[in-house]
Amino acid sequence: MDVIDLRSDTVTVPTAEMRQAMAQAAVGDDVFGEDPTTRRLEEVAAELMGTEGSLFVPSGTMGNQIAIACHTRPGQEVIVEATSHIYNVEMATMARFSGVQPRVLVGERGVFAADQVAAAIHPDLYYLAPTGLVCLENTHNAAGGRIWPIEGAREVIAVAHARGLPVHLDGARIFNAAVATGLPVRELVRGVDSVMFCLSKGLGCPVGSLLCGSGPFIAEARRVRKAMGGGMRQVGILAAAGLYALEHHVDRLADDHAHARLLADGLSTIPGLSVWPPETNIVVFEIQTGPTAQELCLRLRERGVLAAPAGAGTHPRRIRMVTHLGITRDDVLRTVDLLRRELGTPRM
Ligand SMILES: *Cc1c(COP(=O)(O)O)cnc(C)c1O
Repeated sequence: MDVIDLRSDTVTVPTAEMRQAMAQAAVGDDVFGEDPTTRRLEEVAAELMGTEGSLFVPSGTMGNQIAIACHTRPGQEVIVEATSHIYNVEMATMARFSGVQPRVLVGERGVFAADQVAAAIHPDLYYLAPTGLVCLENTHNAAGGRIWPIEGAREVIAVAHARGLPVHLDGARIFNAAVATGLPVRELVRGVDSVMFCLSKGLGCPVGSLLCGSGPFIAEARRVRKAMGGGMRQVGILAAAGLYALEHHVDRLADDHAHARLLADGLSTIPGLSVWPPETNIVVFEIQTGPTAQELCLRLRERGVLAAPAGAGTHPRRIRMVTHLGITRDDVLRTVDLLRRELGTPRM
């Protein structure tokens, strides 16, 4: 029996058709700007985002960190949300590579308000670190794939711009937000100064993210990428997967969202579980009494279902399950059944 891997949408493997596209990709040295497939991917991504340019990067983390490096100078502060990816799981890289520190806003399930931003922007006083950048995350990973409400995002962008500050969007899963809302991505990202999105999550590619922004921003981002060791040579093999995914794997995200709702509905019928209603492809639930997340995940693993504890140190009974192109409706039903059995009957 196949393992049902719900730990993340990063576990997807390229389909036969995607591998075919990769195998046939025209390539050249991209550090010389001579990889036609990568150039094409960067054009397509910029077109989708409505930006002047885009840059292929090896990971979402590198994309976010290049953006921070380009938008700020050492000694500044970057406004981030307390449970954001950039703040929590990028290993303090904004301090390491850009010499800036986070100014943390506590959001409501990942979302903060424009007046919180206004209050956090430092006035021009010689003893305060100047604020350099505001970061948003859509969908919000730790908030269970939550979609940033577009009106709220626009208010934040307006406040930042009124104070002369750029806004970077960590849009690792922005296509999930687009498919779930029915809005084109370029609408969702309108007004931000840069956006990073991942090919390696729900879009099903083995590697890669794109950083998108203005012409001068991308020119500088290309220099910073090289400095970080992210200049890649015949990378068209990976870009081909990205082009394939943008053509064939966007609309199907709706299936992942339907599967997440099915999973959440099923889990909600199990006594003792409290389930966050999913907005996209991430289902978070808490075990009210009984095993910890770690214990339950181990038990599930023995039965062929992989899930991940999601609460770090602070929420030991929180579990995350993510649907993706490797998960079928049947996998979801089997997972719900298994959990019902594991939590329903006490173990001898
Ligand atoms: C996965 C993710 C990233 C980073 O992507 P990597 O490719 O793993 O470095 C950034 N932001 C969010 C919200 C993510 O989910």
